[in-house]
Amino acid sequence: MKRSSLLSVVCLVCLLAVLAGPVAAQRREIRIPDILGYRTLKCDFHMHTVFSDGLVWPTVRVDEAWREGLDAICISDHIEYQPHKADIPTNHNRPYEVALERAKKVGLLLIRGAEITRETPPGHFNAIFLEDINPLDTKEFMDVMKAARAQDAFVFWNHPGWKAKGDENYIFPIHEELRSAGLIQGVEFSNGRGYWAAAHAWAMKHNLTFVGNSDIHAPADNDQINPANHRTMTLVLAREKTIPAIREALFDRRTVVWQGNNLIGRRAYLEALFMASIEVEQPHHRHQDTARISITNTSDVDFECQRTGTVGPEKVVLPAGERAQFRVTVNENGWAHLAYTITNLVTAPGEGLDVEYMLYAE
Ligand SMILES: [Zn+2]
Ligand SMILES: [Zn+2]
Repeated sequence: MKRSSLLSVVCLVCLLAVLAGPVAAQRREIRIPDILGYRTLKCDFHMHTVFSDGLVWPTVRVDEAWREGLDAICISDHIEYQPHKADIPTNHNRPYEVALERAKKVGLLLIRGAEITRETPPGHFNAIFLEDINPLDTKEFMDVMKAARAQDAFVFWNHPGWKAKGDENYIFPIHEELRSAGLIQGVEFSNGRGYWAAAHAWAMKHNLTFVGNSDIHAPADNDQINPANHRTMTLVLAREKTIPAIREALFDRRTVVWQGNNLIGRRAYLEALFMASIEVEQPHHRHQDTARISITNTSDVDFECQRTGTVGPEKVVLPAGERAQFRVTVNENGWAHLAYTITNLVTAPGEGLDVEYMLYAE
């Protein structure tokens, strides 16, 4: 073997070793575009380790998130509930400290936080961007919330309807009190596979931040990731990939929740995400009064479209990462007017995003 080719083999081996890094697996990048001048960061702000009722060591959470393409996580062990404490002593700051070096190594942002855990009502709350979790380990509930505020934490109400049965109301006066006192800023209306429409509507009404997380307790063993099956997460529209930028975006409500095949968010963000994800080609193969339309979807979300106008198929799916084609009617001047609701871009409970296109066929 020539010296130069031997050298390149050695370099290649070194490069592969570097790429493999400390995590012996591949990272699966999530294809959801940056929009409106912001980075679209993929974040999960709610998960557990053996330091509370989770079943993995903190560094495992970092590796799992890295493999699944996340940019930032918060390990949020329960402050008041530690079923493993006979084996793992209570030390609220330890999960963060244990995971930090690994997170830095793989380039994942790690946020310090914890889950405030009370009977319902009030229920559970995550306080994130804390400097020190210990001051929150105190008896009176309002003192805990004030201790979080004193550290300028971002606090959100977790899984709001978790304990409610059927149509039972789960928004109590204490929640109105917390909101009006500025002690909570967000609502985690999507938690794992759970979604609470009344909490979503409440977050809209009071202009609170939309949050969705995994709340994972067991090891993440998801090897079948697809548009409908991935961890629930919050897409944060941040000025840059840093923890202060995520914090600023959360306080400014620049988020979209990704849960199953739904993107749940404010209209302007959903519209921008849709527009940045698809490429609509000029109608082609015109034949008498019809033409073919091709739309490429470069994102990891299947867009489910329901016709609201008169032109085009009644239902169309634009599959993730694919180019969809269908025929539409054009008028005598060659124009096709398409009007659809994208039903899985959820602008309010039960409401999709309306889009319209005027396309000209040669
Ligand atoms: Zn909880
Ligand atoms: Zn939890």
